[in-house]
Amino acid sequence: MIKTRFAPSPTGYLHVGGLRTALYAYLFAKKEKGKFILRIEDTDQKRLVEGAAEKLQDTLRYFGIEWDEGPYFQSERKEKYRQYAEKLIESGHAYRCYCSAERLQDMRTLQQKNKVAPKYDRHCYKIPEEEKEALFNQGKSHVIRLLIPNETISFQDIVRGNLNFHGKDLDDQILMKSDGYPTYHLAVVVDDYEMGITHVIRGEEWLPSTPKHILLYRALGWDLPTFAHLPLLLNPDKSKLSKRQGDVAAEDYIKKGYLKEAIINFIAFLGWNPGSEEEFFTLKKLQEVFSLERVQKAGAVFNTDKLDWMNGHYLRKMHAVDLAIMLLPKLKKTVYFAKTDYSTLTDESIKSCEDEKANNFIKFVSCIQSRIKTLNEAMEQLRPFLIDELEYSDLFFHKKMKVDRAIAIMALEACIKALEHQKDFKNETALKEKIVTVIKSLGMKNGQVMWPLRVALSNEEKSAGAFELMSVMGKEKTLKRLKSALNWLNETSS
Ligand code: GLU
Repeated sequence: MIKTRFAPSPTGYLHVGGLRTALYAYLFAKKEKGKFILRIEDTDQKRLVEGAAEKLQDTLRYFGIEWDEGPYFQSERKEKYRQYAEKLIESGHAYRCYCSAERLQDMRTLQQKNKVAPKYDRHCYKIPEEEKEALFNQGKSHVIRLLIPNETISFQDIVRGNLNFHGKDLDDQILMKSDGYPTYHLAVVVDDYEMGITHVIRGEEWLPSTPKHILLYRALGWDLPTFAHLPLLLNPDKSKLSKRQGDVAAEDYIKKGYLKEAIINFIAFLGWNPGSEEEFFTLKKLQEVFSLERVQKAGAVFNTDKLDWMNGHYLRKMHAVDLAIMLLPKLKKTVYFAKTDYSTLTDESIKSCEDEKANNFIKFVSCIQSRIKTLNEAMEQLRPFLIDELEYSDLFFHKKMKVDRAIAIMALEACIKALEHQKDFKNETALKEKIVTVIKSLGMKNGQVMWPLRVALSNEEKSAGAFELMSVMGKEKTLKRLKSALNWLNETSS
């Protein structure tokens, strides 16, 4: 049976590259009717972060990436690694190294000076047997190193094809540290073998480690799993994806207001494609179509414009009621919302559309639904609908459209007059006709009326169009806004 794993180190957050690895390993297992396991690689005691393992699991679950086994914790399997390390010493594939940090440092300095590759000089491998025994009996602190043989190491990678390395280029890797914990290299091989992993799927940054792992498999007499090294994630300028150019934690994208469906869809395409023009895939659908053969070798650009576009697609597909419920907790965290009439809304009241307030709220949400790219953008765009009084500014005066104070005042006065007689505020076309008549009778350009009108209604540089705003707000609120904007324009003129 196919078995894959995700084996993160608990660093405190889930890197988007980690999410991609987890997703591909999960999808491959599901597609092949196999199993996906979660293993927490927490053997580096210096880098432990409290609560990180739990957070990782929460994030994976949030995205719907559920594991069939685990989580296993390497820190609970210390004894196993030690036993295998001893076995490797017995079979002559590993040796104890007692070198002090100072000696190793001196060695490195000399190697640098002589311009040779930094590599352990096998001092402890070469010392006489009696000396080795004496050091061991004294209980002297030591590490265990792999004795890298002078041979070629070849393997087939699903993504990268046939790969060749040579032992002469590798350092005698430490397998067990002096604190009794294994290094990643020993632990990963032991666990992948013992847990029956058939396919090791991980990021390309681990490729240089793979030859060492293969030597360990050989030394322990185990069959190799199949390897698939996933392409690097790149910034738009093709450099390696880094914090400096944007967010790298999956959690950041959730916080920024991207939907999990959009994030998963976007991440799935970072190095894979379905071989068709289709771009939208749910997690379920991905399980049916994913294949490792379609994973590319070339680095994949993390393009947040594409993520925005995908998120917009998923947002537009949502039912306005569901979107309204999703936005509510976020709104409750904003300062302005608490001061509005809508602060008492609850999920229940929205779901049952029980009163005018809930109905209005849903109306406002559907009005902005097609304009937002993220949930967070909705906070800004909903503001003009939800708050009672807008605090106007010089936004009215638009140079390009030749709107100055006198023009804005004239435009708003005429709009108010015309709209006071308008009965049907639901019909956007009727509202448009009314305003077109106003524009004509004033002899102004469209923008000279439309700009102040929209600013009076929204006080935002970008918002839904004026007719849509008016019909969503209704007559009373529309006129109230226009009058208070007019007041502001009159009062602030010097
Ligand atoms: N613990 C490694 C990591 O943090 C796992 C690498 C692997 O999958 O072998 O990514």
